[in-house]
Amino acid sequence: MSWQPPDPATVRLAHRRLAKRFGPLDPPLRRDPIEELVLTVLSQNTSDVNRDRAFAALRARFPTWDALASARVDDVAEAIRPGGLSQVKAPRILAILREIRDRDGSLDLAWFADASDEEIAAYLVSLPGVGPKTAACVLAFSLERPVIPVDTHVHRAAGRLGWIPPKTDANRAHEILAEVVPPKLRVSMHVGLIRLGREVCKPARPRCEDCPLNDLCPTAPVYLASGARGGR
Ligand code: SF4
Repeated sequence: MSWQPPDPATVRLAHRRLAKRFGPLDPPLRRDPIEELVLTVLSQNTSDVNRDRAFAALRARFPTWDALASARVDDVAEAIRPGGLSQVKAPRILAILREIRDRDGSLDLAWFADASDEEIAAYLVSLPGVGPKTAACVLAFSLERPVIPVDTHVHRAAGRLGWIPPKTDANRAHEILAEVVPPKLRVSMHVGLIRLGREVCKPARPRCEDCPLNDLCPTAPVYLASGARGGR
């Protein structure tokens, strides 16, 4: 049977359930785009706590973006060591900042405020190592644009819920979920699906018996032994 997108009423109901269970589904604090880019690199393969520790150390050592962009890679790696993979992340951060400075003449992305989502996303994904998820995070969290970043948790939960076709890669998932989820719900849906993916729809063994979406989910019967429950 070919894949069919969920009907809009189901998506809205799922959003209400996620808000009831995990709400309020507030996005992370609004940050400037450069900060969001740096944080996204620092968040790779580490916990939020270690990411924040590395970011604080980085800002303490390099108080301005210009100072950071001009720093030696070894010094940056040393500063972000608490976040792990510092030898990989330091050159990534520097490559992004230096590319922006080379192109724009400064590390000021204030022009984003008047640019379209498409213009901003195209600019961001043309930066070294920046993909659609990072671009979506900048749009959602720094600019409050109606996009739904697809990280590993959102991707897994959306796949099990049948909101994206089987074997959809993360890049395509951004496009499909943007069609499936209404604009006003996208950022908070991202937050809700992350919470669901981290706490309930876990990678190896989803806790379908405790999932607020189990009666909406085609994967639930695979895991549920008995007594599925939902609740509106
Ligand atoms: S019912 Fe199970 S598989 Fe479906 S979203 Fe919930 S935890 Fe994931």
